Amino acid sequence: PSKRHEIEPLAERRKTRQLNVGGVLVGGGAPVSVQSMTTTKTSDIGPTLQQIAELTASGCQIVRVACPTQDDADALPIIARKSQIPVIADIHFQPKYVFAAIDAGCAAVRVNPGNIKKFDDKVGDIAKAAKAAGTPIRIGVNAGSLDKRLLAKYGKATPEALVESALWEASLFEEHDFRDIKISVKHNDPVVMIKAYRLLSQQCDYPLHLGVTEAGPAFQGTIKSAAAFGVLLADGIGDTIRVSLSAPPVEEVKVGNQILESLGLKERGLEIVSCPSCGRAQVDVYTLAEQVTAALEGMPVPLRVAVMGCVVNGPGEAREADLGVASGNGRGQIFVKGEVIRTVPESQIVETLVEEAIRLAEQMGAD
Ligand code: SF4
Repeated sequence: PSKRHEIEPLAERRKTRQLNVGGVLVGGGAPVSVQSMTTTKTSDIGPTLQQIAELTASGCQIVRVACPTQDDADALPIIARKSQIPVIADIHFQPKYVFAAIDAGCAAVRVNPGNIKKFDDKVGDIAKAAKAAGTPIRIGVNAGSLDKRLLAKYGKATPEALVESALWEASLFEEHDFRDIKISVKHNDPVVMIKAYRLLSQQCDYPLHLGVTEAGPAFQGTIKSAAAFGVLLADGIGDTIRVSLSAPPVEEVKVGNQILESLGLKERGLEIVSCPSCGRAQVDVYTLAEQVTAALEGMPVPLRVAVMGCVVNGPGEAREADLGVASGNGRGQIFVKGEVIRTVPESQIVETLVEEAIRLAEQMGAD
């Protein structure tokens, strides 16, 4: 409905192999998907499923659950069956949990074969089981847990070290003719992370899972992730994303989706175009924009809604929107598709916008 939807994409997506993660296609030109990870103990099945339901409702497409103990592994069959979205089991070290996750019907497993090899060389058996079940594997290289051999060689977790580690891990599966792999090379510094993913994308065609690890609390983590993902996605690099925040995982999903929408990689849901306010404002724009956002969240069709503080620039700026308001003298001019359709007292602005949004949604649904 908005002109923005017709803008040409930023870049050709890099050609990668395609994986099927429990029905969500990753790579090979599939839409970039948004992931998150639960914070509950996986063995607490009820709370874990509750959190997965909340994540699903907020637009999460794939969810990862940690599996550090036998109790967690035992919970996987129910969680995989009852989750509305594909579940990835996150496993370190113990091959037996990898087999359990595959048997449980998890959509994928995150495991680094290098860890398995060190303790109990079952990489070949894992490749065989994963192939038989059609279960893809993510190799997740993290700066914090980089192989000692590579730390010694490079001195620290440089982009080259992260990439060498990832390709070595992948080669352990390739030896067994297993290539249903996606890879991440995470670092907490967006600059190192961007360089690592650029390098990796030149050296393999596996789909890439983007992440800035330990990105920090919501504000810092959001900006670090948005900056790093923006650079990479603008180059067509990245097939699935996870924003890591020290905040509830629903926030990660909202940020991830907003990043994709901002880059035109995902159909926009509700977009509020609100002015920054200035000395001409005749209404509290911040509060009004928040009230409008809250009232319209969850609309079933994409809508661009302008919230303008005055009638000087308001009408012009609102013209590109589906719906808008420009305030002045305690009243609000309500615009639909750039035309003033009504002027209402300030106290009725939010409810009038909601009425008009519902009307527009019905029209758009009928088209
Ligand atoms: Fe200022 Fe009006 Fe522009 Fe808002 S719309 S920034 S109040 S001039």
